[in-house]
Amino acid sequence: MSNKQTSVIGFPRIGKNRELKFASEKFFKGEISEAELQKVAAEIRQYGWKKQREANISFIPSNDFSFYDNVLDTAFLLNVIPARYQELNLSVLEKYFAAAHGYQGEKGDVKALPMKKWFNTNYHYIVPEIDDATELKLVGNKPVQEFIETKLVGIESVPTVIGAYTFLRLARYNGQKKAKDFVAAAIDAYAKLADQLATAGAKWISFAEPALVFDVTAEERELFKSIYVELVKKVRAAGLKIALQTYFGDIRDVYQDVVALGFDAIGLDFVEGLKSLELVKSGFPKNTLLLAGVVNGKNIWRADYAQKNALLAEIVSAVGAENVVVGTSCSLLHVPYTVAAEQKLPAETLRHFAFAEEKLVELAELASGDVAALAQNKALFATPRVQANAKVQAELAALTAADFERKPSRLERRSVQKEEFKLPAFPTTTIGSFPQTAEVRANRAAFRKGEISKEQYVEFNRKKIAECIKLQEEIGLDVIVHGEFERNDMVEYFGTKIDGFIFTQNAWVQSYGTRCVKPPVVWGDVSRSAPITVEWSVFAQSCTKKPVKGMLTGPVTILNWSFPREDVSLKVQAQEIGFAIRDEVLDLEKNGIRIIQIDEAALREKLPLRKSDWHKEYLDWAIPAFRLVHAKVKPETQIHTHMCYSEFNDIVITFEASRSDLKLLDALNEAKFETQVGPGVYDIHSPRVPSEQEIVDALHKIIAKVPQQNVWVNPDCGLKTRGETETTASLKNLVAAAKKLRAES
Ligand code: GLN
Ligand code: ZN
Repeated sequence: MSNKQTSVIGFPRIGKNRELKFASEKFFKGEISEAELQKVAAEIRQYGWKKQREANISFIPSNDFSFYDNVLDTAFLLNVIPARYQELNLSVLEKYFAAAHGYQGEKGDVKALPMKKWFNTNYHYIVPEIDDATELKLVGNKPVQEFIETKLVGIESVPTVIGAYTFLRLARYNGQKKAKDFVAAAIDAYAKLADQLATAGAKWISFAEPALVFDVTAEERELFKSIYVELVKKVRAAGLKIALQTYFGDIRDVYQDVVALGFDAIGLDFVEGLKSLELVKSGFPKNTLLLAGVVNGKNIWRADYAQKNALLAEIVSAVGAENVVVGTSCSLLHVPYTVAAEQKLPAETLRHFAFAEEKLVELAELASGDVAALAQNKALFATPRVQANAKVQAELAALTAADFERKPSRLERRSVQKEEFKLPAFPTTTIGSFPQTAEVRANRAAFRKGEISKEQYVEFNRKKIAECIKLQEEIGLDVIVHGEFERNDMVEYFGTKIDGFIFTQNAWVQSYGTRCVKPPVVWGDVSRSAPITVEWSVFAQSCTKKPVKGMLTGPVTILNWSFPREDVSLKVQAQEIGFAIRDEVLDLEKNGIRIIQIDEAALREKLPLRKSDWHKEYLDWAIPAFRLVHAKVKPETQIHTHMCYSEFNDIVITFEASRSDLKLLDALNEAKFETQVGPGVYDIHSPRVPSEQEIVDALHKIIAKVPQQNVWVNPDCGLKTRGETETTASLKNLVAAAKKLRAES
C-alpha cells in the first residue's frame, strides 16, 4: 500500500495564535483598517497552504478561509443578502459583519441573522435568509480570489464551496418560494463560478454537501438530483473536474444517485459514516476518485495506522487502489492548529495527540506507507496510553439496572416532596449563575495567579454568595441559588476538579465567528477524589431558610464539550463521569442540600444527524448516564435539570422556551410528560428587562398547554452574562408575575 494521493477538506482559519480574532476585534473598534485586517487574513491563509504543501498534500483546498462563517460567505457569493444589510451604506465586508453580528451605529440599526449549530459539531453557522424577492446570482469572487492567491505561491488548489443543495437546504424561507424555486438560479450561479475559476486556471471545483448525511426525503432527493444533473454538465463544459464532498456521516439515502451523476471525485466520511464502507462495497464508479475520509477530522488523538491501513485495504479492494485518495473525515477546522504550541504538557502526553498540522503528516504517512512511520506508530499503540483505575473499573463492572432507576415512583415522590418543601403554586427560581461582574472574574484570576490566598479567595466568594442570597430573598424567589461565582465555565470547572481530564494551553477550536473554545481532554478513567461544590452549597444554605439548589453539570454535557477518548466507548466515558457527579450529588444530599440541579445544557449536541440513529447510537447511553447520576437519592430530594433548547424526561426540568415559541410544550404535551417544567419565561441573551405583563402572558400560554400545578417560573438560562441592574429588575417582574398567577388560580 503506497503512494496514494492525499486530500484536505479545510484547514483551521482563526490563526495559530488566534490572530483573526484579535485583528477582527481591533477592526470593529476602529483600531485597524479593513486593509490591515485583510493582510492578517491573507497571512493566515498563506500559513495553512504552506503547511499543506510541506506535507505534500495532493488536493489543497482554497476558499475554506472565512472571516466569520462559510455559509455566510456563500450567501454573499450568491447575493442571498437580505435588503436590510444591502441597504446599509457600508463596505461589502462591513455588510457581511452586519449580517454576522448585527450593526448599530450612525448608518443604521440591524440585528444579526440567526445562528445555528453546524451539524453535530460545536461550530455554528449563519442561517441564510431567503424571501420571494431574493435574486440568487453570482455576485462575489472570493473563491476566485483565493484560488489566484494559491497560484501565486505555486499551489494549484482545489476551490471549495458549499454546494447548492446544502445551501438551499439550510436556508430559511420567509416567503412563498421554496428551495426548488431557486434551483435554476443556483445552477446558473455555480456554473458561472466554475467558468470564472476555469479562466483563472483552476482544474477542479469541489462542492461541499454535508447536508446529504441527514435523513433525505424523496422530495429532497429530487432537489439534489435536479441540481447536479445540470450542474455536472455545465461544470464539465467549463473544463473543470468536479468533486462532491460529504462529511459528518454517510450518504445512504442518495448514494446510488451520487455514484450515477458522473462526479470526478466523491468524498465520503469513513469515521462517522457508519455505512460508508458498506456503500462503496455495493459499487463505485470507474475512473472516479474516492476521497476517503479515514483520519478523524474532529478529534485530537493520533490515528492508529494499523487500524487505518486495514480500513484502507477494504476500501481499496472495493474501489481499486488507483482511485483511493487518503483524506480526513471532515474539515480540520474542528481541531486546533498544532501540538507544537503546547508547552506545559509532557512529551509522553503530547505524542498521543495529532492536531491539524500533525494530521497532515498522518495523511502523508498513510498515503506513502512510510515504513519507519508505521513502525513508530505501532510502538505508540503497543503500550497502553494510561493505566486503568481499578476502583472505577470495578464500579463499572458492578453496575446493574437498579443503578439507573430512581425509586419510589414519581407520584410517591411528588407527595413526599410537597410535604418537604411546601412551595407555593408557580414556584420561582433561577437557572444558577448570577452576573459575573468584573470583580468576580478578577477574584478568580487573582487566586489562579497566586496573587491572593485561598482564604481571601473564599472570603470574597462567600461575601458574594451571602449578598446574592439576600438579594434573592428580597426579590422573593422561592428556590435560591448560590450564584456560581467560583465558576468560569460549567464544564471546565468540573473538569479541573475531577481526575482523568487534562487541559491544553492553546488547543482552541472555533465555536462561532471568531470565538473559540478550548475543550478539556478526557485522558484516562474519570474519578472524583474529593467533594467539589459541597462547601459552597453548604455555606449558601447556611445563609437562608429557603431551599438552596445544589448546582452541577451533568455527565453528557461534560463529555460533549470535551475531546473524548477513542480507546474507550462514549458510553463508558459517560458512565465514569456519571460516577463522579453521582458521588457529588450524594455528598450534597448528605450535607443537607435538598434540591439539586444537574445541568445538561449540551444533551442535544451530539444527537445523531439521522433520527433513525438517535436511540441506538446515542440516547441509549446518554439518558442512562444522566439517570445514573441521580437514581440513588432519597425520595424527598428534588432533582432539577436544565437543558438549553432541549426536551427530555424525568424530574423538574427547565428549558429555554422563550426564544423557540414554546413549541417544546406541544411536544411535551404529546409525549404525556408528567414532570414539572419551567419553560424559560424570558430571554437572558438580551439585556432587555421583560415587563411583568409580558411574563404573565408567557405564563398564560404555558398553562394553556401544561397542567398549572406542574409549572415553575424561571428565566431561560443562567444570568452570568447579564448586568446586575437589569437582572434584579427582571427577576422582580418575574416574581410579581408568578404572584399574579397564584392570585388568579
Ligand atoms: N447553571 C448554569 C448557569 O446558570 C447553566 C448554564 C447553561 O445552561 N449554559 O450558568
Ligand atoms: Zn442554558
